[in-house]
Amino acid sequence: MKHVGLNVASDALMTAAYTGVNAGMVFISADDPGMHSSQNEQDNRIFARFAQIMMLEPASSQEAKDYTQSAFMLSEQFDTPVMLRMTTRICHGKGIVELYDRSAIEAKEYVKNPHKFVMIPANARLRHVVVKERFRAMCEYVENSPLNLVEENDPDIGVISSGVCYQYARESFPTASFLKLGITHPLPMKKIAQFIKSHQTVYVVEELEPFIEEQIRAAGLQVIGKQALPSIGELSVEILNEKLHGKALPHKGVDSLPGRPPVMCAGCPHRAVFNVLRKYRAVISGDIGCYTLSTLPPLNSMDSVLCMGASIGMAQGYVRAFKEDKSRRVVSVLGDSTFIHSGIPSLVNAVYNRTRLTIVILDNSITAMTGHQDNPGSGKTLAGDHVEPLNFENLARAIGAGFVRTVDPIETESLDQVIREAMEFEGVSVVIAKRPCVLVEPNQFPGIMKIDKELCTECRICLRVGCPSISLHDQQVTIDPNLCFGCSLCKQVCPQDAIQRIV
Ligand code: SF4
Ligand code: SF4
Repeated sequence: MKHVGLNVASDALMTAAYTGVNAGMVFISADDPGMHSSQNEQDNRIFARFAQIMMLEPASSQEAKDYTQSAFMLSEQFDTPVMLRMTTRICHGKGIVELYDRSAIEAKEYVKNPHKFVMIPANARLRHVVVKERFRAMCEYVENSPLNLVEENDPDIGVISSGVCYQYARESFPTASFLKLGITHPLPMKKIAQFIKSHQTVYVVEELEPFIEEQIRAAGLQVIGKQALPSIGELSVEILNEKLHGKALPHKGVDSLPGRPPVMCAGCPHRAVFNVLRKYRAVISGDIGCYTLSTLPPLNSMDSVLCMGASIGMAQGYVRAFKEDKSRRVVSVLGDSTFIHSGIPSLVNAVYNRTRLTIVILDNSITAMTGHQDNPGSGKTLAGDHVEPLNFENLARAIGAGFVRTVDPIETESLDQVIREAMEFEGVSVVIAKRPCVLVEPNQFPGIMKIDKELCTECRICLRVGCPSISLHDQQVTIDPNLCFGCSLCKQVCPQDAIQRIV
């Protein structure tokens, strides 16, 4: 899961650390230093310490595979969940990976064991003792684990590192000695102390928080770490060279290029919703999904986006804060999979507390942002079996929403009408804007659009739709035929009828 996914899963994790496991249990935390596609860059290594479980950090594609197997074995050996902590560069990296024969492990028998798995206080108190005993055993194990490697080179300079930072440090310190940590929780403190004593200067190279460094310092040992290295964003060979060797950062020579922020795809059905909402100047409580990109110009839609599933809950806060100002309308916007993931309880709460709120579910029948995974609204299980999709209309009505409509967002007149009625409704109104993601069904529209230069007055209204297919070339508005999906959104806003479909 993504690092922020563990925030949600941590409720289960903290107590699973007490119960232990039956067969091996490994979870991957994919952290995102630098926030390439995340709302924060929290360092999930801290969760391993918090839950007192074992954590492994691979530093290459080969290790990503090998450590997964090791993690399962260690999980069974120590009866604990094990975290495999990855970062963006390890997840995106590609390399030749050597495979081995699979070893078949027999499924374990299910044995009812309430003392271990029913965490009422009487049992949990006893399990906490087990957690502490297990932690001591893990501390002993990691001192001699083959995953924590010493590479002896220069006796003057030592580097302690793990994960992708080890690779950066290897390039930045080609002759240094290394303590490469494959297991970063618990830390092999005796091995670390020995390494520090046998090298004159020791650096700790780690991204984000001083997770390793703080534990070393707490043991009374001296290293160079975050006093020289940043605790924000990713590290790189260049940053290490600059901060630790005083070498100037290489100039990339791209200062004059314009920024190219990510945008919603051409033909995205969500775009139409934000074009309509813009007209009503509603306060928009947004959520996590590709539609979050509508916060960028020219749509400038979102007032707030916090975390997965927060849109409806935060919208209720807005409504109560604005209670003296009836002119302000609040709209919560979230995708189908986010609604299923964590929007439903907030809808129950909004209905139960008689909130006057409009909720727009952007239903593209897929979990688009993370790579088009199916969800209970898509009608296909993750195994590929076709099943009855969750009916959002029935669900919203069953919860008690008084106004529930499904609309095709590309038909902007109907969409506008439904959203206006929804916003006038005295209670919870739910609008389901339903149309498949264009990347999943690219041929849902016949042909593409073209601008008739004779009719076009260059008013540039179509540019405000925010479609990346439409741009200015030599001061003339143009549609890129290679990008256009023919959704017709631009055609519907053109006052001159200058945008024509070509099939
Ligand atoms: S909205 Fe129509 S008239 Fe205005 S620039 Fe676009 S194509 Fe031309
Ligand atoms: S029809 Fe218009 S809005 Fe839709 S993809 Fe093509 S250029 Fe973009």
